Amino acid sequence: MKRRYKSWGRYPRAEQEAVRLWWRNEPFPSHALDGKTALPRGNGRSYGDSCLNDGGVLVDARGLDRFVAFDPATGILRCEAGVLLADILALAVPKGWFIPATPGTQLVTVGGAIANDVHGKAHHRDGTFGRHVRRFELLRSDGARLICSPTEHADWYRATIGGLGLTGLILWAELALKPIANPYIAAESIRCESLDAFFEVSAESDEGYEYTVAWIDCTARGPSLGRGLFARGNHAPDGISNTPRPPGRGFTFPVELPVSLVNGLTLRAFNRLYYNRQREARTQRIVHYAPFFYPLDALREWNRIYGPRGFFQYQCVLPGSDGRTAVHEILERIAASGEGSFLAVMKVFGDLESPGILSFPRAGVTLAVDFPNRGQPTLALMESLDAVVRAAGGRVYPAKDARMSAESFNDYYPQWRELLPFIDPQLSSSFWRRTAGALT
Ligand SMILES: Cc1cc2nc3c(=O)[nH]c(=O)nc-3n(C[C@H](O)[C@H](O)[C@H](O)COP(=O)(O)OP(=O)(O)OC[C@H]3O[C@@H](n4cnc5c(N)ncnc54)[C@H](O)[C@@H]3O)c2cc1C
Repeated sequence: MKRRYKSWGRYPRAEQEAVRLWWRNEPFPSHALDGKTALPRGNGRSYGDSCLNDGGVLVDARGLDRFVAFDPATGILRCEAGVLLADILALAVPKGWFIPATPGTQLVTVGGAIANDVHGKAHHRDGTFGRHVRRFELLRSDGARLICSPTEHADWYRATIGGLGLTGLILWAELALKPIANPYIAAESIRCESLDAFFEVSAESDEGYEYTVAWIDCTARGPSLGRGLFARGNHAPDGISNTPRPPGRGFTFPVELPVSLVNGLTLRAFNRLYYNRQREARTQRIVHYAPFFYPLDALREWNRIYGPRGFFQYQCVLPGSDGRTAVHEILERIAASGEGSFLAVMKVFGDLESPGILSFPRAGVTLAVDFPNRGQPTLALMESLDAVVRAAGGRVYPAKDARMSAESFNDYYPQWRELLPFIDPQLSSSFWRRTAGALT
């Protein structure tokens, strides 16, 4: 199948064939490779090149979209790897269950969520997605099928969670969901006037709130640096009245624009307006889970606003008490550069261990910022942010990356060689060749 598969950031471009997998008892599609390498593909919601295989073949797992078993008494769900988190929620929420660790979009597959060991607003409580995966089946190119869990093929379990799709094809997985009383969230939004205010509210929220994250005005400087709106919430208790209606289907951004709508002027204006849309120090409301967790899903294909050159997302985590100083420095550099983002989010991760060898999350503060691709100046800015992250002992998230150097990758993930014995000889990705490939 010849089709242009892109990543969410629409950068870099890649030329690759694709073959679709329909059945979980199919053999590994070696016959379609013609001597090339393959890479499993979920729903392409990774921003950079970890879901691309330039010059190779993608094995599109979206055809594996069936539920296998669900026990509404225990919340244990078994489904194929191409099932979207949105489909799981549609099935499970009416029966009183929710996904414990969900990213900022529900349009990702179970296979993709495992391969990047994704995280969300509940990281300080529930850790990463991988912690809730009880077992899965892995298909290797030599035809071996491994059932992996914390106790069976435990080394393969650790390698595959956060393993960037390189250890084999995940065919199905069994997940442990968490109980809820209804589809609503009791949400609060708190205005934070500075970075210090963010850290104060975050520390005070960890105990009493399952979900926390802040939107940050990344154009603000001086005493306002790090100002933003801090969102926190809990699943609403049983018996609430005046429940909001579920959201509609949303809109699709209609066209691919010839140029990016995002520039210095629109950025500053948007950030100022968005910060000032809330005048009160604190607001409280009951909301449906979809706008609370997935506000961006309401505008499908919003990545088109960045035009044909696409955009980058930069997400780092900065550990320990130095993380505070480092995130201050990073925000300074972003604001001074004039590059910036509508969407900058910040959260303090908890200290629950991530199960994968290459999992990104660790205790510390994480910042995620989108940058329109303006070529060299944007790349130079991110390289300069890497210098701060490296000095602080932090790391950058491969699922969002399209440009980190091999040296940075080696600093961020010194344990990456532990993955080598588990990598399937027929699998590779553009990301892996660009980073680890340049180190071997
Ligand atoms: C709006 C938005 C918000 C986001 N918010 C967050 C967030 O809050 N937290 C977070 O962690 N991430 C976030 N992400 C990133 C996203 O959650 C991850 O990139 C996720 O892994 C994408 O899953 P996917 O199904 O689209 O997989 P793809 O992007 O297609 O692939 C991701 C990886 O999974 C591998 N893979 C896919 N299917 C299989 C399979 N069956 N077997 C083996 N390997 C497989 C691929 O080889 C690739 O390495 C966000 C992305 C967007 C667009």
